[in-house]
Amino acid sequence: MVAQIIDGKKIAEELRGEVGQDVAKMVEAGLPRPGLATVLVGDNPASEVYVRMKQKSCEKLGIESFGHRLPATASQEEVEGLVKELNANPRVNGILVQLPLPSGLDEERVLNAISLEKDVDGFHPINIGRLAQKGREPLFVPCTPAGCIYLIDKMGIPIEGANAVVLGRSNIVGMPVALLLVGRNATVTICHSRSRDLPGICSQADILIAAVGRPDMVKADWVKPGATVIDVGTNRVDDPSTEKGYRLTGDVDFEDVKEVAGAITPSPGGVGPMTIAMLLANTVRSAKMAAGIG
Ligand code: NDP
Repeated sequence: MVAQIIDGKKIAEELRGEVGQDVAKMVEAGLPRPGLATVLVGDNPASEVYVRMKQKSCEKLGIESFGHRLPATASQEEVEGLVKELNANPRVNGILVQLPLPSGLDEERVLNAISLEKDVDGFHPINIGRLAQKGREPLFVPCTPAGCIYLIDKMGIPIEGANAVVLGRSNIVGMPVALLLVGRNATVTICHSRSRDLPGICSQADILIAAVGRPDMVKADWVKPGATVIDVGTNRVDDPSTEKGYRLTGDVDFEDVKEVAGAITPSPGGVGPMTIAMLLANTVRSAKMAAGIG
């Protein structure tokens, strides 16, 4: 059996198209353009790339983008002060504080300072807390986990009653994606670095989500024939044959696993493009709520 390839690039492109249409409709109706503020603290090169990508994507869809930069030496008060200013700015519908923050800054306090209505990244402790509670709805859900679920839904793969295994328990991917799956009535096992017998646990999964940051870790004999495999991993590995000297690969050995899975995301080109698309969708939803039409 050769797996169906889940084309995250195409699905994200379609979602962006829908979001762009929503923006155009709002502008036509005389409503303000949605706006996303990005806050970048310090000079982590990967963070700089991510923020630039987010800003460019906004501009393409007609979403206003407000870039803010603070030096790595910024104090807790300065970062929180900027967040509070953005909370009060009506042109800003979404606030994205790029993580990780430089050491010395209290990430939770910064995230807590973001107004719930503008928490388009979904990391505010109250939004995460609601995600973890039965019968409570967060206003926004973290973008990468939401993107994983969107892909599964788009492929028409049932989640309810499925055995789902999540590899990884980070705050930004593993844990929230596991909570989303539980919320959709899957039976979920969460694995981490101390879990025993990962191949045995993974091979029980109807849906396997890998978010560990270990290149090509998941092999074909870890995967139940016909399972859905969502690879969040985006890892740099040395490759002298490429111009840059490296290439990106996922946590799943794609060539091996695609021979047994029912459906699989490539990485890159799977979950990655969904993250920004979900962020744009959340920003426009926030703008609609602010305009009283969401
Ligand atoms: P973290 O490093 O924060 O978390 C990794 C998790 O994997 C931890 O829970 C850790 O366990 C677990 N883990 C690590 N090694 C092993 C192992 N050998 N066996 C079992 N579990 C293990 O990573 P993130 O969640 O931030 O990111 C994971 C991957 O997803 C990365 O490749 C990252 O680049 C990618 N990513 C992609 C995004 C996108 O596509 N848009 C967005 C965010 C991340 P423990 O808790 O015990 O330490």
